[in-house]
Amino acid sequence: MANSKYEYVRNFEQPDHLLPQSWIVVRIDGRGFHKFSDKYGFEKPNDRRALDLMNAAAVDVMKDLPDLNIAYGVSDEYSFVFHPSCQLFERRSSKLVSTIVSSFTASYIFHWPEFFPDKPLEASHLPTFDGRAVLYPTASILRDYLSWRQVDCHINNLYNTTFWNLVLKGGMSNTEAEKALQGTVSSDKNEILFSRFGINYNNEPEIFKKGSVVYRQYELEEPQSSTATETPDASRGKEELSRTQQEKLRKLRCKAKVVVEHVDIIKDDFWARRPWILSNRPGRLPAA
Ligand code: ATP
Ligand code: ATP
Ligand code: MG
Ligand code: MG
Repeated sequence: MANSKYEYVRNFEQPDHLLPQSWIVVRIDGRGFHKFSDKYGFEKPNDRRALDLMNAAAVDVMKDLPDLNIAYGVSDEYSFVFHPSCQLFERRSSKLVSTIVSSFTASYIFHWPEFFPDKPLEASHLPTFDGRAVLYPTASILRDYLSWRQVDCHINNLYNTTFWNLVLKGGMSNTEAEKALQGTVSSDKNEILFSRFGINYNNEPEIFKKGSVVYRQYELEEPQSSTATETPDASRGKEELSRTQQEKLRKLRCKAKVVVEHVDIIKDDFWARRPWILSNRPGRLPAA
């Protein structure tokens, strides 16, 4: 490499390697999607096409980066999770975040016409996303992070569903609906939905109530007696795998189908039946 007198400027670049042996979550979020969703006429409170588009982009990101173990999405956000043993880009934060943000955005724009065929994107209103990386030291705290996002999904969806019913069917103004909901708890909102609009919240689509979980599919396993979060931390990549072993695991991951589900990820069952997500050891591929 040429050694020029300008070479010293390299020293201005700061290292940003993320701590080893911690779970990495890269969360991206649509910039100004409140306005963006108005501009392209998203249905309120939940536009199914927009959610399916988010999910299509997330599946592409999972395929692009086989190191990813799981992703969870709601509204205009998606969280992508790397295992503690992940060595992609030497765990450099800016590399990981910028790669996920640009891979996701590129795919979102690519798939847009499939989901919004009659609403072409306009150059003055293009979708963009920001992103950040956060570390979680244990599998149990990682699960709490994901539970937090899923609970948030439920709380927001119950509020938004009630709010928009009061506005769209109840004839209230936004301010009136906001006032009507002030100080209400979940059971009040359930009651408003049922008594005024005949809606049983439990029967609302799962994708609205639970958000979307994206992961690699292997054969489901019988839950073991130990809790799903106990084992993985012991195998968080302290034992180094050889290059050949790593390559073999990578190939297995690439072969697995990436699936999107709208299920509970708060209780143990999801994790116990899919131990590969936390253990990072690919399971058995389903017989074709
Ligand atoms: P910021 O740039 O700070 O993230 P924002 O306008 O994107 O601002 P968020 O808090 O991220 O605000 O909220 C996203 C908003 O996008 C929601 O409140 C909702 O109005 C809209 N939105 C996102 N997804 C959908 C969807 N599938 N259907 C209808 N509206 C949606
Ligand atoms: P990484 O993913 O690590 O960035 P990379 O393959 O993108 O790997 P860079 O160091 O970014 O490697 O180098 C970019 C390479 O892309 C250049 O070496 C060159 O081969 C090619 N390239 C970029 N722009 C042009 C261009 N306008 N015309 C021809 N080749 C180009
Ligand atoms: Mg946003
Ligand atoms: Mg958001």
